[in-house]
Amino acid sequence: MSRVSSEMSAQEMLIAEAFFESSEGRLVTDDQQIIVKVNAAFTTITGYTAQDALGKTPKMLASGQHDGVFFRNLWQGLESNGLWQGEIWNKKKNGDIYPQWLCITEIKNSQQSVSHYTSTFNDLTVLKEADKKIEYLSFYDQLTDLPNHHCLRVRLKKALANCVQNQCKGAILYIGLDHFRLFNKNFGHLQGDKIIKEVAARLSACVREGDTVARLDGDEFAVLMEHLSEDLTVATAQAEEMAQNILLALNKCHQVDHIVYSSTCSIGVNLFESGRMGSSQSALKHADLALLKAKAGGGNEVYFFQPQMESVVAARVVLEASFREAVAKGQFLLHYQPQTEGVGQIIGAEALVRWQHPTLGLVFPAVFIELAEETGLIVRLGQWVLDVACQQLALWSTRPETAHLTMAVNVSAMQFHQTDFVATVLSVLERTGADPFLLKLELTESLFISNLDDVVCKMRTLSNKGIKFSLDDFGVGYSSLLHLKRLPLDELKIDQGFIKEILIHPSDAAIAKMVISLGASMRLTVIAEGVETEQQRDLLALLGCHSFQGYFFSRPLPIDQFEELLLKPTSPCLQ
Ligand code: C2E
Ligand code: MG
Ligand code: MG
Repeated sequence: MSRVSSEMSAQEMLIAEAFFESSEGRLVTDDQQIIVKVNAAFTTITGYTAQDALGKTPKMLASGQHDGVFFRNLWQGLESNGLWQGEIWNKKKNGDIYPQWLCITEIKNSQQSVSHYTSTFNDLTVLKEADKKIEYLSFYDQLTDLPNHHCLRVRLKKALANCVQNQCKGAILYIGLDHFRLFNKNFGHLQGDKIIKEVAARLSACVREGDTVARLDGDEFAVLMEHLSEDLTVATAQAEEMAQNILLALNKCHQVDHIVYSSTCSIGVNLFESGRMGSSQSALKHADLALLKAKAGGGNEVYFFQPQMESVVAARVVLEASFREAVAKGQFLLHYQPQTEGVGQIIGAEALVRWQHPTLGLVFPAVFIELAEETGLIVRLGQWVLDVACQQLALWSTRPETAHLTMAVNVSAMQFHQTDFVATVLSVLERTGADPFLLKLELTESLFISNLDDVVCKMRTLSNKGIKFSLDDFGVGYSSLLHLKRLPLDELKIDQGFIKEILIHPSDAAIAKMVISLGASMRLTVIAEGVETEQQRDLLALLGCHSFQGYFFSRPLPIDQFEELLLKPTSPCLQ
């Protein structure tokens, strides 16, 4: 029996020893707090050997970071529970102060009085660093080191609470760089990132102390302004002033390596206040809606949120969803509007797209072209239009009465800027068998804002194959005459805005006259669009324009009606 019990106690000793030698630091003191035992991990963590420590008290580890109250609480906890645990800052042998998680337990003898204390501890440095890193990753943007959207939300919640307490207002500004996607596409993300960093620095320089600048996503930033005046007019003026400063700062040129980039930005502002503040979620959503509105006007604008915007945006969301579905399901068709020459001879048609909506009926481009451009769906839609128009052109060339007709197709800037645009057009021509000499692509002046060399190169390649180019809506855009001279154009199309009141406003007639003589000097055909009356046509003819398109001749028509019109002797087209 006694052999068994002595074997058991040897076994227990072994277990206790193994338990003591863990990766956690351990030390044992007697009831007077004299260290009587430490393990190897104690030395690894603190730098003190057993020899350094034995006979001393744990005070040798003190960092001086805690006051008397802290230790009083520690001892009180220990006495009443027999155990204390918590975070404590201690000092290593080399002087480093570090956080540890410490657990002290009393050991009592058979008389129930304390004979020893054991302490177990972990170095929390690594854990704290990991914690910091995690906090950084989840609350800060790594490219700019600015707070990210999570961080902004947390700070906004505090700001909203502050508004209630301090009876003040605050503002959240959403800032978006206009057309930044185009820059990224042209120069690559590496250069784009440099611009983003520069923008972050400029924004940080604009704000007041205590304001938050955050990077939300891609090219979107936010500024949170707190402690604005309680007076709505003053608070609005404070936010407006900040927004204008930001516009100014960001609109200055950026130099990235050899690239000089100049761009504008748009800003949506939402003022929040106590009482009417709602959640942080809706405060952010309203700023975002205001930004959308600022961008919709073409950018470079500041827009303040107004409640009625929510319904407008909701309607747009619905429209966008059903438009995406329409593109996927191919709910489009083309109408053809005659283009005439002289007294009314039809020389061709302009293909105009329509959306055959399942419940709304026929929807016109004014409703969806902008949406198609914003969502990028214009590329797919434009390709479909080109394909169908070329099929029709090929079909016309098989019949003598239609073989001479030209086909004008509108091409959006985004579509034209696609790297495979030329290849796409050529492959459509090849697939459909349409004659390139009868195809006319209508471009607008917005195309010539950026990458003019690339545009000229693409136009030349297509023009060498016989394709014609018409400059649509001419007179309302940005073209300089210098641009025009470089472009292999065939036709100028006077914008219908000048034709509408050409008989009333002499200035419109003067512009039309100028475009006509400009065309003549550059050997370009000039066509007037939006001709609605005989008088308009006659005046244009008098000014030297002999090609027309407009309701006076015919509205855009479905293909069967267009072909009927070709044969009708009563049509003004055949007068
Ligand atoms: P646009 O290319 O300038 O086309 C002329 C627009 O003027 C057409 O409107 C046409 O119906 C309208 N119009 C023609 N004659 C008259 C007239 O005498 N009076 C009045 N008030 N209007 C007249 P639509 O079909 O609604 O197209 C509007 C715009 O949508 C087009 O202007 C064009 O910019 C765009 N669009 C149409 N189809 C396409 C397409 O397939 N691709 C692209 N990218 N844009 C297209
Ligand atoms: Mg057009
Ligand atoms: Mg036009």
